[in-house]
Amino acid sequence: MHYKSYSSNNFTKIPQIESLSAGQIREIEIVSSVLPFKTNNYVTEKLINWENLPFDPIFVLTFPQKEMLKPRHYELAEKAYHTKDLKEKSAIIKQIRMELNPHPAGQTDLNVPKSGEEKLQGTQHKYRQTVLFFPSQGQTCHAYCTFCFRWPQFTGISELKFSSNEVDKLVKYLEENPQITDVLFTGGDPMVMRAHILRKYIEPLLESNLTSLKNIRIGTKALGYWPQRFYSDSDAPELLKLFKQVKKSGKHLAIMAHFNHNVELETEEVSQAVKKILKTGAVIRTQSPIMEHINNDSGVWSKMWSKQVELGMIPYYMFIARNTGAQHYFSVPLSIAFQKYREAYQSVSGICRTVRGPSMSCLPGKVQVLGINEIAGEKVFTLRFIQGRNPDWIGKPFFAKFDPKAIWYTDLVPAFGEEKFFFTDELNKMLAGGDEEDDFE
Ligand SMILES: *Cc1c(COP(=O)(O)O)cnc(C)c1O
Ligand code: SF4
Repeated sequence: MHYKSYSSNNFTKIPQIESLSAGQIREIEIVSSVLPFKTNNYVTEKLINWENLPFDPIFVLTFPQKEMLKPRHYELAEKAYHTKDLKEKSAIIKQIRMELNPHPAGQTDLNVPKSGEEKLQGTQHKYRQTVLFFPSQGQTCHAYCTFCFRWPQFTGISELKFSSNEVDKLVKYLEENPQITDVLFTGGDPMVMRAHILRKYIEPLLESNLTSLKNIRIGTKALGYWPQRFYSDSDAPELLKLFKQVKKSGKHLAIMAHFNHNVELETEEVSQAVKKILKTGAVIRTQSPIMEHINNDSGVWSKMWSKQVELGMIPYYMFIARNTGAQHYFSVPLSIAFQKYREAYQSVSGICRTVRGPSMSCLPGKVQVLGINEIAGEKVFTLRFIQGRNPDWIGKPFFAKFDPKAIWYTDLVPAFGEEKFFFTDELNKMLAGGDEEDDFE
């Protein structure tokens, strides 16, 4: 199979599109003028069940749906669609996008590290041991997820100022910061890069005698969207060779694979790709957010985790969907997410229970919902940090008032009549001067 991508200008050429009405096609055209849209022939031929429309989870995962825009925004987008005046058209689209909270990602200065006085653009360092690196050629994906919080960069409303091609600066920063054991390549999807480009980023990390660097991680959705990347793309052998080289240099290589539904784990293609990767000595850990219309179902999660283990992967994180873009469409309340997590967790064997969640990647850290309890007569969420801006916060349980409708940490208030959480003062101190808001997963 040769990779072929589809977007708003050519998706009507997908043969199966015939099963959609003219009205449905127009809806896709209208919504995709606001939100990014990209899918590909593997997704349309092997993953989507076209008889299951419009509810098919993989269809919803990659095709924009009318309800992803709030009615007011949809009306505006429809108006723009019928407008002949190009200037007016783009002004309307821009206005809608700005109202969709495009920068929970103020991946602003707060997490951008400095080497001396110089900022390291294209890197983020929030948690002590791990630095994120955004290679500039890896800022797109084989298909786009409709829920993605990186949507502003795919639509061009935010520039790729978070990407970098300066690996030398990264190496220098790692030398200056021996507490960092992990470099996590992320994007977009670094696996869209050709192997020889990825090599330019990875080899310097291997050759520079960085004894403190132990783990190289690559975040990717390619196993879900284009598993051929690992066995039949023309440079697949070179890619696998590079993976082997990492192992041979004594570093651990972890592929942080993103899967949203068990359907993505059931093809011949994905199992072939997983085999190839594991043979290089790399391990594959898996993660996904829990989302309405896609996987808000404990059966889907238990199937995902069991199938992942069966193929040789390690379940790692269940996330809560972020507060951007079409969050109203995808969001699952914390209370429900916890219930689904627990049901799924109970139904699989211990070997699948390496997964942690449900977890929010938010301003203070990664906050896990550990339970819903009644303590001293009050119903509460029991929470804890899996990661914290201050490492001292990690692992400490704390409590928020139970709220069945809460969908994000900003909806939570401290339990037991307390005024603030144990970390509030310290967090505010850290933020003073820095720019606020949230960051990458
Ligand atoms: C999740 C995350 C990491 C990696 O955390 P692990 O728990 O080690 O997987 C690193 N940096 C940021 C900003 C993150 O959100
Ligand atoms: S979630 Fe990952 S694969 Fe999906 S669009 Fe966003 S960056 Fe790309």
